[in-house]
Amino acid sequence: MKTILLATANPGKRAELQELCADRFTVKTLKDVGLQDVDVVEDAPDFAGNARKKARTIAGLALERGIAGIDVVVADDSGLVVDALDGNPGVRSARFSKDAGYAPAGCSVDDANNRLLLVMLAAVPAERRSARFVSFVIARRMHDDVELAARPEGKEVVADGAVEGSIARDLQGAGGFGYDPLFILDDGPIELRGRRLAELSSTQKHSVSHRGRAMRALLAQLG
Ligand code: IMP
Repeated sequence: MKTILLATANPGKRAELQELCADRFTVKTLKDVGLQDVDVVEDAPDFAGNARKKARTIAGLALERGIAGIDVVVADDSGLVVDALDGNPGVRSARFSKDAGYAPAGCSVDDANNRLLLVMLAAVPAERRSARFVSFVIARRMHDDVELAARPEGKEVVADGAVEGSIARDLQGAGGFGYDPLFILDDGPIELRGRRLAELSSTQKHSVSHRGRAMRALLAQLG
């Protein structure tokens, strides 16, 4: 079985990808290979740029440190795109409230982000609250040509995915993370539409989510 090194420290993302490629790949995280302290600054203007930077950096470090047994490095970047906010928070989804200096006492980062989004959309009517989650994923094969594995001209396998919905006026559901309690699904199977992403089981969420779609498209190309 081949091994994917997923450029994340998030065990939830590992579990999600492992579920998608159960009998084809073993998925490892940065922690599994001793790279948990590596912090790739996500400062590109778009999701693709950040995913590309993470994939290249981690592939480079894996080679430099002689980490054995990695066949493919996969990196993703994702976020929430809100039409009424001209595409924001977009690539700044994780640090949306922090960048705005909005940190209500006792609030987690996810809570603060959700509250700020509600404030910014307070005057926006239902028909203009459309939004989507977007995910961009990039893989670099480590064995095609080791010399090129981390270099800009090295071959990349690229995929993306999105899920359509709108932003609610309150939070509902205890599952998922981030903006899930605010995101009303308007995509995928009819029985899931109208529900918050945070109200779905993880299997239901992965079946329609931006990352699930992007990862399935990527795995199809990895062969
Ligand atoms: P990441 O860089 O892909 O980890 O995601 C950046 C940020 O986008 C996260 O911190 C969340 O705020 C948001 N985000 C990405 N994917 C999701 C999701 O599936 N549900 C809710 N929020 C998400």
